[in-house]
Amino acid sequence: MKEKILVTGGAGFIGSHLCERLLNQGYPVVAIDDLSTGKLKNIEHLITQPDFLFVRETITNTQVLDRLTSESDLVIHLAAAVGVKLIIENPVHTIRTNIIGTETVLSTANRYGRKVLIASTSEVYGKGISVPFHENDDRLIGPTTHNRWAYATSKAVDEFLGLAYHRQFGLPVVIMRFFNTIGPRQTGRYGMVVPRFTRQALQGEPVTVYGDGKQSRCFADVSDVVGAVIKLTHHPDAVGDVFNIGSTEEVSVFELAKRVITLSNSQSEIEFIPYDQAYAPGFEDMRRRQPSIEKLTQLIGYQPQYSLDDSLNRVINYERERMSESGS
Ligand code: UDP
Repeated sequence: MKEKILVTGGAGFIGSHLCERLLNQGYPVVAIDDLSTGKLKNIEHLITQPDFLFVRETITNTQVLDRLTSESDLVIHLAAAVGVKLIIENPVHTIRTNIIGTETVLSTANRYGRKVLIASTSEVYGKGISVPFHENDDRLIGPTTHNRWAYATSKAVDEFLGLAYHRQFGLPVVIMRFFNTIGPRQTGRYGMVVPRFTRQALQGEPVTVYGDGKQSRCFADVSDVVGAVIKLTHHPDAVGDVFNIGSTEEVSVFELAKRVITLSNSQSEIEFIPYDQAYAPGFEDMRRRQPSIEKLTQLIGYQPQYSLDDSLNRVINYERERMSESGS
């Protein structure tokens, strides 16, 4: 019998792909999600599988989390407040969810000695200037008066907490720093650029590039990302350590807009929107963000299968289908 895996945030974008892959590989899976940003639709196709249980509940419900953790062999903790737009609009919720949520997951797992994989983010590098980012690099975080840094800091506290539980109590903990991840089911509602550009292009609306568009990102396909997560889950040498997970294929946001327009055969124009208008006055964006994936590659032989164009095509096909279903 394979290990039973508890996935927090299991109805989210990455969570739903992870649950699906784990089930395909024969693992029994329990997903907990309060559907605040996750969607039932993401896991609808899994609900009928006998080895899958979905629990609609917040991870800060200690009784429920205690029972689910005691009945599982390990925990993959993805539940978090994510998305730059959400973070800026709802800063209290972001800080509380990320810090209290992770502390609840860790203390519960510690009660039963369950291994925990914690999803962190490339945001913890802040404005780091030496690209690519290595796991042990110094971090350069902006002032507390800017909400964006509350998110980066809350996730850094999650990392500290996880590593502290490992050092102090011997709890097996692995930290995964996700860089920009894309794929079917990601929503643009919380600001993520690829689903936003794709919808805009497919609807023939202007594609909104913020700032000068020269800022760049590397987008990994969710399928590659969940493959890495599962390998890390089972690698004994990952315990007590931090890993970047992402793509190294860098693209400027302006180039990304052009590619999405071309790949979706759209007539959309590109519209430049100043940051102050797009977010809030004083918003700080990252100019470049590229992971070093040396450590991940060395440990688990990570080899991304999807190029950026492959991945964009997957998103475009998905959004096209969704739009034809909803008639929008
Ligand atoms: N962005 C953009 N237009 C949009 C949404 C985002 O130009 O409609 C930019 C955003 O300012 C950032 C990049 O795209 O430079 C990636 O944004 P996202 O929120 O997806 O991820 P993150 O900023 O966390 O890397």
